[in-house]
Amino acid sequence: MINLVLFGPPGAGKGTQSEKLIQKYGFVHISTGDLFRWHTKNETPLGKRIKEIMNSGALVPDEITIAMLKEELDKNPHAKGFLFDGFPRTVPQAESLDTFMKGNGTAIHYIIALDVTEDEVRTRIAKRRTMENRVDDEEEKLNKRITEYFTKTIHVLPFYEQQGRLHTVHGIGSVDEIFLNICKIIAQRYYS
Ligand code: ADP
Repeated sequence: MINLVLFGPPGAGKGTQSEKLIQKYGFVHISTGDLFRWHTKNETPLGKRIKEIMNSGALVPDEITIAMLKEELDKNPHAKGFLFDGFPRTVPQAESLDTFMKGNGTAIHYIIALDVTEDEVRTRIAKRRTMENRVDDEEEKLNKRITEYFTKTIHVLPFYEQQGRLHTVHGIGSVDEIFLNICKIIAQRYYS
């Protein structure tokens, strides 16, 4: 079993690469962004609590995010491995994730950061906005999400780097090329 965190700014390609990784390795995909969108769309009590925060592009408070994540982990006791996408975004989230994994007798083996410049991210999201109509891809909200990434989320990287768990993959290039580079990292350890 391996567990992996895919890390990077909005628009880095986490969603695209996640799909390919799931197909190849059979990971259970946990995307906190998708989960939050599901809750807001279905107007669950959680969805109602976070709707405004999410629409503004700000981070949902750790307490809520961590509780939701724990619930998802508990729903999948027989997972072959987890792929975390959009989580952790803060150091307390990263610490909780380690605690949860340890509690299940496992760990996060790889943190793979997709390295993409801010300019590239903005260009990609502008394109996606016209195709997907995501409320939080509007310009002002997008600016907020990018700021949240570069002021808060980025601090998660040194946390992992100090422990020798961080792998950086150049995130500009063809989808297949980037995928291959991620797979090379996983191949160092993967066995099923
Ligand atoms: P992005 O395209 O910015 O990577 P996501 O789809 O991962 O977006 O997340 C969308 C929104 O969901 C974020 O802007 C934030 O409000 C909320 N969110 C997702 N994951 C987290 C998290 N780990 N911590 C706090 N908020 C989160």
